[in-house]
Amino acid sequence: MTSVFIISAPSGSGKSTLVNRLMAELGRLTFSVSYTTRKPRGQEVEGEAYHFIERDEFEARIGRNEFLEWAEVFGNYYGTHQSALQIAENKGLDLVLDIDVQGAAQLRERIPAAVSIFILAPSREKLEQRLRARSQDSDEVIRRRLADAAREIQNYSLYDYVLVNEDLEEAAETLKSIVRAERVRRVRVEERIRPILATFDRRALGE
Ligand code: ADP
Ligand code: 5GP
Repeated sequence: MTSVFIISAPSGSGKSTLVNRLMAELGRLTFSVSYTTRKPRGQEVEGEAYHFIERDEFEARIGRNEFLEWAEVFGNYYGTHQSALQIAENKGLDLVLDIDVQGAAQLRERIPAAVSIFILAPSREKLEQRLRARSQDSDEVIRRRLADAAREIQNYSLYDYVLVNEDLEEAAETLKSIVRAERVRRVRVEERIRPILATFDRRALGE
């Protein structure tokens, strides 16, 4: 049974850092590589962070109902392909999605058991420091990201978990703990415990 983990956060909160650690340090997970119409940034490679496509191709794929969810974020389309879930299910892996609040809402409708996690920087000041330290964005972009963050964080209450990324080590451990704990929910272990119970049944029968 595949568990779906939705992770959202305002830009600069540490989502990529934490998701990369989660993927590297915990097994049986697969990351959904989204489709987007935004242009590659810096060192981004096709097929790793994203599949980069043109607007008309994205719209054709919407028309063919290829996306599990899609949204327009900062003027670009982003979407999760249906195959992401199918592949995870076929391989028996849990699926990690890095998507925005609109996409998270669509996925909750389609997959009510999906687990959602919202990541927050500890304060506006720390968020600004991190955006500057990453030194990827101009002053204007940083100002816009801070204004967007103020709006986006209002949505934290729609999520199952809210992770404040103060100390990186602690936040990374907590994120792993969430995934580990979700994996031992009764509905997920039912199949695994049946053979265990069967061994007790045989004892009861005197075998
Ligand atoms: P996002 O993916 O949410 O936009 P990043 O993962 O790129 O954010 O993190 C933004 C910057 O903050 C990066 O330079 C990253 O190394 C740094 N960072 C992430 N988490 C922490 C933390 N807990 N303490 C200090 N710096 C952090
Ligand atoms: P960026 O362009 O900075 O990589 O991502 C911008 C925003 O788009 C982030 O909030 C990210 O979570 C979101 N995003 C990335 N992929 C998807 C997707 O497939 N669907 C949706 N709805 N949002 C996405």
